Amino acid sequence: MIMSSCSLLHMADEDDDRVFEMGDYQGPVARWCSGCGDHSVLTAAQRLMADQQLKPETTVFVSGIGCSSRFPHYMKTYGFHGLHGRALPVATGVKLARPELDVFAVMGDGDCVSIGAGHWLHATRYNLDMVALLLDNNIYGLTKKQTSPTTPKGYKSNTQPYGSYLPPMNPLEVTLGITNASFVAQTAEWLPAHLFATLKAAYEHRGFAFVRILQRCPHFMQDMYSEAVKNTDLVQILDHPEGIKAEGIDKIYTNRLRHDPADIHMARELAEDMNTIRLGLFFRDESRPRYEETRALQKRTAREKMDLLNEDFDRYAV
Ligand code: SF4
Repeated sequence: MIMSSCSLLHMADEDDDRVFEMGDYQGPVARWCSGCGDHSVLTAAQRLMADQQLKPETTVFVSGIGCSSRFPHYMKTYGFHGLHGRALPVATGVKLARPELDVFAVMGDGDCVSIGAGHWLHATRYNLDMVALLLDNNIYGLTKKQTSPTTPKGYKSNTQPYGSYLPPMNPLEVTLGITNASFVAQTAEWLPAHLFATLKAAYEHRGFAFVRILQRCPHFMQDMYSEAVKNTDLVQILDHPEGIKAEGIDKIYTNRLRHDPADIHMARELAEDMNTIRLGLFFRDESRPRYEETRALQKRTAREKMDLLNEDFDRYAV
C-alpha cells in the first residue's frame, strides 16, 4: 500500500540537516532463505540510499510477486508490494504523479520476463527516470521450483520434470532491442563492489535504468552460478572510462573486455552471446526522450487534470 508522503515532504526542505546511515533504511529481518542472493541486493540498495543520502520519505520501492518482491517490506522507505508482473505500471504511475520521488522497481524473472513482459517493453520505451532491478534467479522460487522464462534449457523443474524444453529468454538482448532503451547493465549479487557500483550508475542515470542482477537461489538452483563464483575467469568485466567502475575487483577479475557503452550495436552483439557471463554497462544514452518531459499534463495541477478527465467523460454522456 502506498502511503502519502506529503506531510513528511514538507519536513525535507533545505533546512533539513539529517544525515542518514544504512540502518536508517533497514526494515525488519528479511525472510529469504539463508544464502539467498536477495540479501546481497538488499544490502547494496541500502548502501546506495546512504551513499546518496536519499530521504526515506521521498523514496519508493515497488514490487510484484516473487521471492525478491518482498523487497519493499525490508526497506524503511515507502513501498508497494503489488500484483504479479505489475511492478512497472505501478512504478510508472507513482513517477508520473510524483516526479520528484526516487522510484525503484524490483522484479524477479517470472515477474518481469513472463507475466510482466508487456509492461517491461513499454516502460523501457517510455524511459521514465527510475531504476528497474531484475533479480534473475532463473526459476520461480516462491512457487517452489517452476520453470521460468530464463531457466536454462534442459533444467528439471517441478513443472518440467524432464527438463525445460525451450532455450531461455535473454533479458539483456530483449531490452537492448526496445526502442528508446537508455541504460542496460548486468551485475551479479556475489560481487558486492560491482553490484553497488552498478546500482549507483543506474540511480545517477537520467532515464529508465534497467539492471539485470544475476542472483543465486541456493534452495532450487544450487549449481547455476557455482562455477562462476569459484572461477573468476569465467566472468568477463566490461571495461571503459564511461562504464561502471567497481573498486577493488581489478586484480581478482582480470578477464576484461573494453566496450564503449555508447555503441549499441556492439552492446547487442555482446548481450546475444549467452555463453559468457558479462558484467558491466552494455549501453547508456541520456539523450533519449523521457516521457515525463514530453507529457503535457505534467504542467497541470491535480484539479485541472480532474476537470479535463470529467470534460472528456461528459462527451460520452447520454
Ligand atoms: Fe531465495 Fe530461492 Fe529461497 Fe526464494 S527460494 S528466498 S530465491 S533461495
